[in-house]
Amino acid sequence: MTVPTIKLHDGTSIPQLGFGVYQIRPAETAEAVTQALEVGYRHIDTAEMYGNEKEVGEALRAAGLPREEVYVTSKLNNGFHRPDDAERAFEQTLTDLGLDRIDLFLIHWPLPTRYDGDFVSTWRTLASFVEDGRAASVGVSNFQPAHLQRIVDETGVVPVINQVEVHPYFTNEAVRAANARHGVATEAWSPIAQGAVLDDAVLTEIAEATGKSTAQVALRWHVERGDIVFPKSVNPGRMKENFDIFDFSLSDDDVARISGLDRGEAGRTGPNPDTFDWIPA
Ligand code: NAD
Repeated sequence: MTVPTIKLHDGTSIPQLGFGVYQIRPAETAEAVTQALEVGYRHIDTAEMYGNEKEVGEALRAAGLPREEVYVTSKLNNGFHRPDDAERAFEQTLTDLGLDRIDLFLIHWPLPTRYDGDFVSTWRTLASFVEDGRAASVGVSNFQPAHLQRIVDETGVVPVINQVEVHPYFTNEAVRAANARHGVATEAWSPIAQGAVLDDAVLTEIAEATGKSTAQVALRWHVERGDIVFPKSVNPGRMKENFDIFDFSLSDDDVARISGLDRGEAGRTGPNPDTFDWIPA
């Protein structure tokens, strides 16, 4: 099974399907990532906030795959937006993952109500990680259109990716459109809304017609829309199921019907980035 790649504006490429490790306990993470690599995933999405970077690194080393075959993303934790802290946190991420260079590093949340509203100096610091070669690419996560516009205007450096909540109940079109205007690829987090969309009647009908599961139909919808996804599961059967989405397609009508399930703000499973201000203790 070949996973398509998405070309980013800096010339690098990312596998469109990856494996997310949010809420996988550290003790379970190495095993889960090992299984995911066995299934065929070659893109792992972690974050300092998830507390499992060391275990991701352990599994990567144990797998012994050539470094260039696995795409690794991590993210700057909310307590480290000041440039000196960001530098230290990034170095710690590299150490914990056991990597000299990361494929992609993101600002996890913009936190516009923290740090005097200054996520611009944080962004400049991330850009320096590309200049010195410790990151192949840098991007952002949970940036609203105004946040994105501001870092582009003030630094001239365009993120390659904006990782935001997107699933059939929260299609986040305004952010996807803003990303597209800037040439920024969209990564869809919680692509199956942490399971909330799996009993949906429209997804069930399309799943029955295509002989696929509702999870596969939802993931395929993201793929058809050109977004990048990394569903999370610790269950090897589900890891395989989520990986097996490249032997069928959805009609334009099915894509439109699923997009029509959008519930706007009410459909969010996570916090609103304009007001989210949580800094882990
Ligand atoms: P998800 O939408 O991937 O759903 C995961 C849940 O669905 C798990 O509880 C799992 O048991 C269940 N599941 C997975 N596959 C299934 C299947 N085939 N059938 C039935 N149930 C299934 O949710 P997520 O983990 O929140 O999001 C995926 C990834 O996105 C995360 O692991 C993380 O890497 C990333 N993420 C990023 C942010 C951010 O702020 N940048 C926020 C949340 C998640």
